[in-house]
Amino acid sequence: MFGLKAEKNLSDIKRQEESNLSISKWMKSIIKEDENTRFMKRGKDFINDKEIEELLQKNRNSEKRRIRDIIQKSFSIQRLEPEETAVLLNVEDKALWEEIFEAAGRVKRKVYDNRIVTFAPLYCSNFCVNSCRYCAFRKENTIQRRRLNLEEVRKETEVLVSFGHKRVIVVYGEHPLSDIDYIAATIKTIYNTRLKARVGYGEIRRVNVNAPPLDIERLRILKEIGIGTYQVFQETYHHQTYKKVHPRGIKANYQWRLYALHRAQMAGIDDVGLGVLFGLYDWKFEVMGLLYHTIELEKQFGGVGPHTISFPRLEPAVNTPFIQESKYKVSDEDFKKLIAVIRLSVPYTGLILTAREPAHIRRAVLPLGVTQTDASTRIGIGAYSEEYNQQEAERQQFLLGDTRSLDELIRELALSGQITSFCTAGYRCGRTGRRIMDLLKTGKERWFCKLNAVLTFREWIDDFACGETRIAGEKVIQKEITEIKKKLPELFPKFMEVYKRIKRGERDLYF
Ligand code: SAM
Ligand code: SF4
Repeated sequence: MFGLKAEKNLSDIKRQEESNLSISKWMKSIIKEDENTRFMKRGKDFINDKEIEELLQKNRNSEKRRIRDIIQKSFSIQRLEPEETAVLLNVEDKALWEEIFEAAGRVKRKVYDNRIVTFAPLYCSNFCVNSCRYCAFRKENTIQRRRLNLEEVRKETEVLVSFGHKRVIVVYGEHPLSDIDYIAATIKTIYNTRLKARVGYGEIRRVNVNAPPLDIERLRILKEIGIGTYQVFQETYHHQTYKKVHPRGIKANYQWRLYALHRAQMAGIDDVGLGVLFGLYDWKFEVMGLLYHTIELEKQFGGVGPHTISFPRLEPAVNTPFIQESKYKVSDEDFKKLIAVIRLSVPYTGLILTAREPAHIRRAVLPLGVTQTDASTRIGIGAYSEEYNQQEAERQQFLLGDTRSLDELIRELALSGQITSFCTAGYRCGRTGRRIMDLLKTGKERWFCKLNAVLTFREWIDDFACGETRIAGEKVIQKEITEIKKKLPELFPKFMEVYKRIKRGERDLYF
């Protein structure tokens, strides 16, 4: 008996060793150093920590007039320079901060009007070879590991479609089990899922991707499938901190991550998303890092900077004491400040707020320039379609602050005069990269999007809205139609024609 057990253990150990060997071989094959160095100058990347610290130091106590001139510049939809952003970050006066908050909201309305885009994350796999000290998916953590099969991906998608979602962001850990073939197969499954709704049908029309940095060859595969935005968050731009929080694994290579979006552009993906995990290092430094990254992308790719910027704050995660220990956690007040300064620094870029934040914070910061947010969010693997329980919560990457449904969120937005847009026209009719940036910078996108926002909101109300949400939504729609009639009289008849076709049950029509 004893002999048999020992034999079994030996074969388990052997299998484990073989698997470790093939994982480490796979890890070694991922990073293509030449895809980093081709963009670097004399072995250096574009984040100069010392320069950022000095700019922050030098631009303290600026005069009120200078601060107001900078706000004014942003109001004319021009990106700020690092020195100007450093001035805003150093404002001490409470009344001036109120001016900044107010200006951030005005800039957002000027570029994006009263629209908010919604989406939901879909976590596909939590296997990971990395050791990010803040993340519950890190290799060393003893959580339950799981990768959805394609049937499970379809089930998860059906639940999201049944809420009326049209956009998802797919999320994966970094592991051979979730390499490009798996990523591609899951995205295709999502695009191929369709459900009958009350009047028309539901489907996901834009899949954004939050995946580990990929090489150009793999990114070309994503481009071919037709993804929306490809997001890679740098987490922290501060080199030393980066090293500390990513001690091992592929993610330990700062530049492989920093140039991930350069590679995406090279592969033809021109909607890319930046992000920082706020709470790892000084928030002012990180805002500067985001700006330098934007400037670098604009410089390298003909004026096309990030399509979106995300600013998650560090949230508690299972078995992850690092989070409580971090001395850079961002207070609610500083969170407001950093969002407003990002809004003013890159006036034309989409800003994403997530359900990591509790409802009261989301209410407080949405008016500071946010353009996209998620709803009815669950981040456990399989959590949309399966029984949700404590065990499920423990599979999560971190703990969520706001679990309200899409219907509830839309109702709240509608009651405050905002329209939820389900528009996904952008990448499907070529309004990406340079074209979308030009439209945003000149204020034209605001009008295209208004038409599509009303059309897609009409679809959603007829197909998915519950009682009170429907009433609040109708009011918003009527107000928008009146505005379109007044502001775009030449387009109005064509718009109404399409609007009526949607009311009759046709779907997915857009300008
Ligand atoms: N594994 C891929 C990567 O690291 O790029 C993509 C998915 S990762 C699950 C998505 C993002 O979650 C990370 O980029 C990080 O910013 C964020 N994240 C990780 N741990 C977090 C935590 N404890 N609180 C808030 N956000 C967290
Ligand atoms: Fe893995 Fe991404 Fe989590 Fe890091 S943040 S442990 S790479 S899933």
